[in-house]
Amino acid sequence: MSKTGTRVLAIANQKGGVGKTTTSINLGTALAAVGRRVLVVDFDAQGNASTGLGISRADRKLTSYDVVVDEIPLEDAILPTLVPRLEIVPGDENLSGVETELADKARRSYRLRDAIRNHINKYENDAEQRYDFVLIDCPPSLSSLTINAMTAADALLVPLQCEFLALEGLSQLLRTVEVVRSGLNPDLDIQGIVLTMYDRRNNLSDQVADEVREVLGSKVYKTVIPRNVRLSEAPSFGKPALLYDYRCPGSEAYIRLASEVLQRERARAMEPA
Ligand code: ADP
Ligand code: MG
Repeated sequence: MSKTGTRVLAIANQKGGVGKTTTSINLGTALAAVGRRVLVVDFDAQGNASTGLGISRADRKLTSYDVVVDEIPLEDAILPTLVPRLEIVPGDENLSGVETELADKARRSYRLRDAIRNHINKYENDAEQRYDFVLIDCPPSLSSLTINAMTAADALLVPLQCEFLALEGLSQLLRTVEVVRSGLNPDLDIQGIVLTMYDRRNNLSDQVADEVREVLGSKVYKTVIPRNVRLSEAPSFGKPALLYDYRCPGSEAYIRLASEVLQRERARAMEPA
């Protein structure tokens, strides 16, 4: 994809409960708040990104399932959210059937990439419709949905919970990235790794953070997302934390993360091709 056009980021980690959905919602909101056009693709059968962005079950007529299984155009499934410039392709429990549905299909790992590329090509010259960022909220597995997301993505953004054995799960993820790079998507990059649910009262959090930085160096964002109850309360109001309580530590951390993501994108755009 072009260096200045839409950037597709897969928010991925095969572990559940590490902050993928919270990051998709709140990073997406923070990027939209500073004027970027953002599309969240809810790629998890739990549909938590959709719920957290205020999309009711009844409103999910067409979802990311229809995009990858029935190849409907992305724009048919896109819904606005209450955040200006932030839109969503919702997800629901149908997604749990994708693995079997796609098993014998042609280009089964390219379904999401094809849909996103078609959309980008169609609206290339239309600034009103063109997205600056597509954030794919991946499921907690290395299933064909995650493979589709990694194939569609320019880069991964990996939330890593500050807990025991955090790095072990990451090496499994990185092996999958290598497999995807060796075939489906040679250009797949890692935008960064974000430490989540950091608890400064817990020594383990600091140990994990230090160890992760030692191993992964500058790939780890400076911003750390603290454990903050406001972040976990907001989804039950169908709102991103930034609309629920924009001054809570969680919201502020996601604003800083958005700023780092933009910084890395600017640095990348200035690199020679
Ligand atoms: P995943 O998408 O990786 O499964 P979620 O983003 O859904 O993870 O987070 C799992 C649970 O933890 C959710 O209930 C969410 O509200 C909560 N949570 C996520 N990040 C934080 C945080 N930084 N502080 C407190 N609770 C959090
Ligand atoms: Mg999730």
